[in-house]
Amino acid sequence: MKKAMRAIRLTQIGKPLQNVEVPIPEIGPSDVLIRVEAAGICHSDAHYRAGVSTIDNLPVTLGHEVAGRVEEVGANIANVTSGDRVCVHYLVHCGRCDFCTRGLEQFCRSVRMIGKHRDGAYAEFIIVPGANAFPLPDEIPFEVGAIMMCSSATALHALNKARFKPGESIAIFGFGGLGFSALQLARAFDSGDVYVVEINPAKVASAAGMGAVAIDANSADPVDQIKEATSGKGVDVALELIGSAKTMRQAVLSLAALGRAAVVGLTAEPMSIHPYTELINKEVEIIGVSDHLAMELPALIEFARSGKLRFPPESLRVVELDAVQINTALDALQDSIDHVRTVIVL
Ligand SMILES: [Zn+2]
Ligand SMILES: [Zn+2]
Repeated sequence: MKKAMRAIRLTQIGKPLQNVEVPIPEIGPSDVLIRVEAAGICHSDAHYRAGVSTIDNLPVTLGHEVAGRVEEVGANIANVTSGDRVCVHYLVHCGRCDFCTRGLEQFCRSVRMIGKHRDGAYAEFIIVPGANAFPLPDEIPFEVGAIMMCSSATALHALNKARFKPGESIAIFGFGGLGFSALQLARAFDSGDVYVVEINPAKVASAAGMGAVAIDANSADPVDQIKEATSGKGVDVALELIGSAKTMRQAVLSLAALGRAAVVGLTAEPMSIHPYTELINKEVEIIGVSDHLAMELPALIEFARSGKLRFPPESLRVVELDAVQINTALDALQDSIDHVRTVIVL
């Protein structure tokens, strides 16, 4: 096997990623070497490049949405074998601390994210611990296997955190990548009515086209619209996927008694709530949601295998493993308003 590979690296914050030639990493006994077939280009990658989220271990190969074929496995690896199609859980954790042993690895003190704290998949090969590699069924294309491991997985975690149950109604605030998956996953859970709140006309139309009750927040207060549509009751679950104090408050106010608002969008703004009338009286819950868990991924993969979670070909744009193409895609991400995901395909 050859010794060097191409990788696209972040070498300096605020500067374009660069094409480099690096040694193919050597695996330890608990690692797998994966030949990358597809790597999703994510909004967070644009943030890493711009320095919005700090990275202090430069240079680093970006790319945390990974699918490929197992090239080589360490001596201790039993869950996958050479030649297997796999997708990758991006949180590398110790596996031994009290959080890891309870399956809550996102709180592991030594958690490290692939494509941020350690080299990611903008490369011909990537090394990950065997525990992070999940078999990818033949029905799921590599491109989908890559991109579903980020926003779709987090959308699923949000539904799980909100204890979303069959028949329940749900309001989804924000119809970007997370909302696109959340709508499909809510259906996969046999949801009741699904409301999608948006201000962007193209996204309002897209949500309606996918069968949701589209709530155009430009036309009237979305809380009033949801209350009206539910005969004053409100929804059982609300997901806030935008990251604004205003929509977080709207998500809470749109809840029925015993409703749960799962808050996923990031913001530094404080949110105001009147505890008695808006929280206590209705026994509603506000739940924080961060990333997702390895134990949730088999269900996610099954939803994609069975076609309940779909990324139609027109929603994917393909680029090559090339710094110029990837930098251009990252530039375009800043002001994208559609559901098209860009994927590096090798
Ligand atoms: Zn991502
Ligand atoms: Zn741990």
